Amino acid sequence: MSEVLAPQAPATPSAEDLAAKKHAHEINKLSKRLHRQVGQAITDFNMIEEGDKVMVCLSGGKDSYSMLDILMNLQQRAPIKFELIAVNLDQKQPGFPEDVLPNYLKTRGVPFHIEEQDTYSVVKRVVPEGKTTCGLCSRLRRGILYRVAGELGCTKIALGHHRDDIVTTLFLNMFFGSRMKGMPPKLVSDDGKNVVIRPLAYVKEPDLVRWAEHREFPIIPCNLCGSQENLQRVQVKAMINEWEKRYPGRIDNIFTAMTNIVPSHMMDKKLFPFETIQATGQATADGDIAFDDDESCATPSAGASVITLQR
Ligand code: SF4
Repeated sequence: MSEVLAPQAPATPSAEDLAAKKHAHEINKLSKRLHRQVGQAITDFNMIEEGDKVMVCLSGGKDSYSMLDILMNLQQRAPIKFELIAVNLDQKQPGFPEDVLPNYLKTRGVPFHIEEQDTYSVVKRVVPEGKTTCGLCSRLRRGILYRVAGELGCTKIALGHHRDDIVTTLFLNMFFGSRMKGMPPKLVSDDGKNVVIRPLAYVKEPDLVRWAEHREFPIIPCNLCGSQENLQRVQVKAMINEWEKRYPGRIDNIFTAMTNIVPSHMMDKKLFPFETIQATGQATADGDIAFDDDESCATPSAGASVITLQR
């Protein structure tokens, strides 16, 4: 007679199994979010069109690796055909690991070009000791990349700036340049010959940090030139990150505000003809609300005392 086995209770998953499952779930969500946001930015600003050859500028940092990675994935699924070519400018900084990028790009099977230009020596020779070298270095790099784009027959130049770079730039320009000027998702280059795009415009920097860790990109440190990062940028970035910690969602709100500008309620005479406005006698839905309560400010929090304002 065969023995009757008692039904076994399902094995309880170990803490490691649960943690691994949770991690896989988080990474899956992150991947979907990144691809959705890049796809959305490309669509919203018509960044990439049928037949484009996109030069993906690759510095070896987390942002540009992520940009290339995501664009390669989107290229497979896109309803349009476009080419990608990764381009790195080897600026001959001491200790630059020359093999890292070519090895990575070969394993990914993406066409690439490494442009070798010793801008490091030029910058060191021209900029006095102790002065920041980033301004001249960036200008030289930009000029070289524009030239290379032309030589390679590229129609678009993709840069890896993200949402936090864009918001930081807005505050830098306000604080130190007295201008409300950010960093556009798409623009025509200074020489008028290239269209520059920023496919990571909607992406948060912390998401890129996590993606780079997950994908184990061979990151090349960005301090090989020995220059200090621009102090003003560091300070502004620290400021907005502190805000975000205290008031989660604030960076997103500022970013969304950049897509939602009301020239009639700013003070730029170039954007709105204040000097010629006249009463029309017609009510307009989006007319003056200067004396209305701002809903988001007027809503009292639970338990807060309500003060009635007399008009
Ligand atoms: S940190 Fe160095 S490589 Fe980067 S822009 Fe400044 S000078 Fe150039």
